[in-house]
Amino acid sequence: MDIKEITSRLRELQMEIPAGVRLVAVSKFQPIEYLQEAYLCGQRHFGESRVQEFLEKYPQMPKDTKWHFIGHLQTNKLRQIIGKTYLIESIDSERLLALVDEESRKKEIITNVLLQVHIAIEETKFGFSPEEVKEYFLKKKYEQLTNTHICGLMAMASNTDEEMQVRREFTSVSKLYNEIAEVISPELRGFDTISMGMSGDWPIAVEEGATEIRVGSSIFGERG
Ligand SMILES: *Cc1c(COP(=O)(O)O)cnc(C)c1O
Repeated sequence: MDIKEITSRLRELQMEIPAGVRLVAVSKFQPIEYLQEAYLCGQRHFGESRVQEFLEKYPQMPKDTKWHFIGHLQTNKLRQIIGKTYLIESIDSERLLALVDEESRKKEIITNVLLQVHIAIEETKFGFSPEEVKEYFLKKKYEQLTNTHICGLMAMASNTDEEMQVRREFTSVSKLYNEIAEVISPELRGFDTISMGMSGDWPIAVEEGATEIRVGSSIFGERG
């Protein structure tokens, strides 16, 4: 893909997205030149899904780049990314959450995370079930965390052309979020993020309440 194309695609997207919705440019599998081009165009939030790739790109981007980790995180690789992320969106187990907290405590930092909710029909996708998330907050387990801040929820819809299905899934995330924020744990501070929607379905996600979308191929082209 012509690198200049990134600028026009990004500009177009930024104009389409309503104010107040954050755009994360998903740059996994894309060359560093593409990220740098997007950065020059004003993009600051980038999403990566593999630890090794993230660690290679991290030092090659300006310090104010805001890195979102969005891939499944193996516990043995967690330590390497703690302190380098703006937001870890793919917390998919209490064990992982406890480890993030422990590593953050050792480094004396606060790590911002999202809980990944499994809503899609595919079984391969990681995440808490909606019931597990609800129970987590009902039991106020977050009170055990000393160095981790839960900022909200992240989800991926089913990979299907059936718009109604996708919309239903996004609606269920918003409902879950609202129930937590308004009924179960209204005392939570900074619980303000619903990350959902990708290249193929972000307009639906925004209509259903997303505060952040994660878009890759619509900006950078198909992944090599
Ligand atoms: C790859 C990926 C995206 C972006 O997907 P596109 O279809 O390229 O926009 C968004 N979220 C997650 C979790 C991903 O792994």
